[in-house]
Amino acid sequence: MDYGIVIEKIHQELKAYWGKGKVADYIPALAEVEPKRYGIAIETLDGHSFQVGDADIRFSIQSISKVFALAMVTRHLGDRIWKFVGREPSGNPFNSLVQLEYEHGIPRNPFINAGALVVTDRLMSLYEQPKDAILQFVRGICGNDDIYYDKHIARSEREHADRNMALGYLMKSFGNMENDVEDVVDVYCHQCAIAMNCKELTRAFLFLANHGVNPFNQEKILTVSQSKRLGALMLTCGFYDESGDFAFRAGLPGKSGVGGGVAAYIPGNLAITVWSPELNRHGNSLIGMETLERFTTDINNSIF
Ligand code: GLU
Repeated sequence: MDYGIVIEKIHQELKAYWGKGKVADYIPALAEVEPKRYGIAIETLDGHSFQVGDADIRFSIQSISKVFALAMVTRHLGDRIWKFVGREPSGNPFNSLVQLEYEHGIPRNPFINAGALVVTDRLMSLYEQPKDAILQFVRGICGNDDIYYDKHIARSEREHADRNMALGYLMKSFGNMENDVEDVVDVYCHQCAIAMNCKELTRAFLFLANHGVNPFNQEKILTVSQSKRLGALMLTCGFYDESGDFAFRAGLPGKSGVGGGVAAYIPGNLAITVWSPELNRHGNSLIGMETLERFTTDINNSIF
């Protein structure tokens, strides 16, 4: 199928949605992004790629990095990670503190901030140089040694991280944090500040579409079962308190970030990333969600 024609059409139609959402501003550096950006990139496992719009411009991947951190930790800990973090949708905003108190410091899932902080904490216990290790991992899965942290964004998020610090200390008080909370939040702010474009993120998601094996060099990143689980978590928890709606509308495992990126995939077939920085009220890219709904509808294919 010529996905290029499909995404050209969607891109043309959805530009009319510019102005309906709002760029994230709770991290000041994110508010500096030009709102009228819109890129889409697709890569298939049989080697075809398609792109339209701003697919070459890098942006802050934010929470999409939670998928990479979890993949890294899963490789080492396997199912042991589920002692420290749950795997149920939270139904609450991404940065909510409320469930932690009565669930004894065990976050609902690894894709809300509390859960992601636990994953980053465990990653830090596994790697001596965690920031280098994260970059190395991401560079490896997308086959590009030029992926870097946007230091300006990392610094801005670190300076406005009171809520993530609160989550970290609350979990520490329940014994669910192995490292110094300030250090964990620092590494977390860096992973969120990785800068990538739609093409690079799409490549980085292809190992998930390929059931855990990097299609470019055949390296096994995850087992088939681990890859299945990561996909299931994305489907049920990848879009904060809008995860059900994304599954309903797009029918794909995927992950969004407040930088406006949405990366998703069809197992055994392709990966796709959309970037449009204006967010809806749940913190998901408004045009990104709509694009993926139209895409799976137009191509008559999803995981269902
Ligand atoms: N770095 C962001 C935060 O912790 C990530 C949020 C997101 O992309 O959902 O607030």
